[in-house]
Amino acid sequence: MSQLKNQVFKKNQEFIGQVIDLSYQGLGVIKIDGFPVFVSDALPGEKIKFALTRVLNSYAFGRMVKRIQESPARVDRRHPEMIQSGIAPLVNLSYFSQLDFKRRQIVELFHKAGIDDIEVNKTIGMKKPDHYRNKTVVPIKFQDGHLTTGFYRRGSHKLVAIDDYFLNDPRIDQAVAIVRDVLDRYKVPAYDEISRQGIVRYLMVRRGYYTGQLMVGIISAKRKLPMQAEVIAEIVKKMPDLTSLILNYNPKQTNVQLGLENHVLYGQPVIHDLLLGLDFEIGLNSFYQVNPQTTAVLYQKAADMAQLNGNELAIDAYSGIGTIGLFIADKVKKVIGVEVVKPAVEDAKKNMAANHITNAEYKAADAPAQFIKWAEQGIRPDVVFVDPPRKGLTPELIDSLGVMQPKKFVYVSCNPATLARDAVLIKKQGYFVDQPLQPVDQFPQTMHVESILVFERQQF
Ligand code: SAH
Repeated sequence: MSQLKNQVFKKNQEFIGQVIDLSYQGLGVIKIDGFPVFVSDALPGEKIKFALTRVLNSYAFGRMVKRIQESPARVDRRHPEMIQSGIAPLVNLSYFSQLDFKRRQIVELFHKAGIDDIEVNKTIGMKKPDHYRNKTVVPIKFQDGHLTTGFYRRGSHKLVAIDDYFLNDPRIDQAVAIVRDVLDRYKVPAYDEISRQGIVRYLMVRRGYYTGQLMVGIISAKRKLPMQAEVIAEIVKKMPDLTSLILNYNPKQTNVQLGLENHVLYGQPVIHDLLLGLDFEIGLNSFYQVNPQTTAVLYQKAADMAQLNGNELAIDAYSGIGTIGLFIADKVKKVIGVEVVKPAVEDAKKNMAANHITNAEYKAADAPAQFIKWAEQGIRPDVVFVDPPRKGLTPELIDSLGVMQPKKFVYVSCNPATLARDAVLIKKQGYFVDQPLQPVDQFPQTMHVESILVFERQQF
């Protein structure tokens, strides 16, 4: 079959087609006799002429030759590099249409899973859907005589230089440029992946949305920079708002950007930020939600939809640094949390203490295994919050609901496909949905969408 396809479809062959959908990466999807082709910067409803660039067994990639009919939802923001880099693949789709597309995608996924009786609200979006990220990690390379920051073009080792990342807090982009230029002036060499020579690999910047505290991480293949004292002094002089400057040592040949060893070059080892009225301590390696504005909306909404009465035993599963559990702690009797990454659990405990919360408990464990254990131990929560990664829940975890029988099950999901799949199993455990599903746009200009869905236990 693939042989046949390869014979039929050849590189550089041109076609005209209608864009019918967007792929998970935000590429336009066109079908030629049922064979999907993915084309960058092509929006649903557009008619385009395209040429095949790569033909694989069951799909192909193409490039735009000519846009014959433009979508009325197209806005030209003149950021071609945001599409090429994959940083903001939807930048040319009007924000209203982005929100609507995300909602319709959820409706369709539930329909495919056989669920048509759940109402889906309009996606809650941002007032200003750009420059929202509180964190960035950018590659740095010696190119054309200078240290350069930007992004790697797909399938290439050449950095495309950019200074405005469009999604980052503007102060973060400024900090990247300032640090890069200081390192350049002192001739600190960039690391080269191929020769394995050089020093600086990435720059990482985080900024507290409410506190304005700024953390800069220099990810380095050596424990010390040349002219280190001078470099530090100059960075500090140029950034009065710098709270923390850290050298992160990562000598390994790996795609993992950050190493585990940190050296504080200046200021504090951590920064603080506020989220939902709570104080969070954030280290260079800590997990922390990257869109502080919508995270607050998402978790506030999840708590509202749970309609808590103050007497519940609540589970916060896949709890990360405890954001949901600590936020609802004053709205329930007790919170028990479970998260698999140990340092995140330690952060959750620290955040608990810093916010004087005494009615929460966090465990480092695999959530499905812990649910089975809790069920066996006779733990009977009134409400369960889950916020799993993209792969969603496991059937074992869902089965344990049959034993624990919480009255409410609040599912916060970053992947509507697994949410729809899991919803089928949760309903089989005796749950129904009364409130509409609420989509929240945590990552404007990208294909991601978060959903909140509340399941309630049927009374027999
Ligand atoms: N609500 C959290 C973030 C949740 S993201 C916060 O705001 O901090 C999903 C979390 O699930 C991640 O922290 C990830 O480490 C965790 N996780 C992934 N697999 C897990 C498993 N099998 N058991 C428990 N936690 C898991």
